[in-house]
Amino acid sequence: MSYEEIEGQIKSAGEKLKLDSSTIEQIYSPQRIIEANFPVKMDNGKVKIFKGYRVQHNNARGPFKGGIRYHEDTNIEEVKILAALMSLKTAVIDIPFGGGKGGVRVNPKEISQDELKRLTESFVKSISDFIGEKKDIPAPDVNTNAQIMKWFREEYEKITHQKAPGVITGKKLSDGGIKVRDEATGLGGAAVILEIAKQFSKPVKDITIVIQGFGNVGHHLAHHLAQMGFLIIAIADVDGGFMHEDGLDYYKTFKKVYHKKGKICDTCYCLIHGESTDCKIVTAESVLYQQADILIPAAIGEQITIKNADKIKAKVIVEMANHPVTHDAEKILKKKNVLIIPDILANSGGVLGSYFEWIENTTDKKMTYKQSQEKLIEKMRRATHEVLKTAEKFSVTPRESAYLLAISRIAKAIKSQKI
Ligand code: NAD
Repeated sequence: MSYEEIEGQIKSAGEKLKLDSSTIEQIYSPQRIIEANFPVKMDNGKVKIFKGYRVQHNNARGPFKGGIRYHEDTNIEEVKILAALMSLKTAVIDIPFGGGKGGVRVNPKEISQDELKRLTESFVKSISDFIGEKKDIPAPDVNTNAQIMKWFREEYEKITHQKAPGVITGKKLSDGGIKVRDEATGLGGAAVILEIAKQFSKPVKDITIVIQGFGNVGHHLAHHLAQMGFLIIAIADVDGGFMHEDGLDYYKTFKKVYHKKGKICDTCYCLIHGESTDCKIVTAESVLYQQADILIPAAIGEQITIKNADKIKAKVIVEMANHPVTHDAEKILKKKNVLIIPDILANSGGVLGSYFEWIENTTDKKMTYKQSQEKLIEKMRRATHEVLKTAEKFSVTPRESAYLLAISRIAKAIKSQKI
């Protein structure tokens, strides 16, 4: 995906909404791009300069919000794209945040824990003027975690001489995090699918589901879908997985896989037949081509492209990964009447979980774990309903409709600002 692609989608939604050209430009242009070259003292006593980015895409609806990734290939184009997607996600689910994203060019596996801590602290120093509980709130992303968030917050509080638990989300429970955060993206996806289920003229227990990816998103999603009663018939991660058309008992099946240290074994557990050798072994790729009502790519981007879109047999694709279906593939799938639920809606449960954490940190409003799960499901179902209703009203795809909803909300906020 390129930034031009997002820009094109924003322009086309803006024109459909009859927005003036300056408002459209304001929405696709990132408000601020920070490129920092910051020093880190390495364990051998030498100082090395690292490069980090923070793109503050849009804050018309509220503080910039989005993760920070540590990766040796991170670059400004990628961070710009991800920041724009965050503005769209927070607007689609209608929470009072804008969008931002950050990245540091580093392979965390190549440095020590002490170096990782000093790198985080130095990056915070270089961007501390631009972040804050009401300004810009980072979170974990690729290769960053709750420990890094703790260092981040501590350094920020040291610099600003104030308590600021809400300057960052994705913290451990003991540091002001909340329980629902870890599962929020998967739970949100399950809530989206529950709403989509209304489109099928059969009960949830007969709606067949195939999942590619069994990491943080995939396994929480599978857990919640199983609890809701959907019929999960295939799951695969990068090493492959299982398929059984009568439904997998995914808890038992994947417990066994993980006991074998990720190696796929020759038995799965079928919901009806129990331990079974009847299951089909699928690869990370072939799992995409199984006959099912709903296919969920929840692994990595660009899994469904112009090269394999023809092989897809599912009726609905729910994009839990970011950008798993390319633009050209979508054109082919549209002709085949495959409904695609876009990433900016499907995987936005994570930022909703972050929002709940931030509310707890910055106000005296608290929710129990159960309340936060219920609220998350309710908000994700409402957003899905709105996207589907708008798609029907304007005779557009759910992706176009999600963009229309998001852009109209951002434009409304821009119009109410004084310049
Ligand atoms: P993860 O690293 O925990 O898990 C990734 C999964 O994908 C693993 O099961 C892995 O085996 C599988 N995988 C990796 N390469 C693969 C390949 N080539 N083919 C098939 N499977 C492959 O990541 P995650 O946090 O679960 O994120 C999954 C996707 O969801 C990513 O695209 C991520 O950007 C997106 N996403 C995640 C969150 C979140 O809260 N974690 C939020 C929004 C979007």
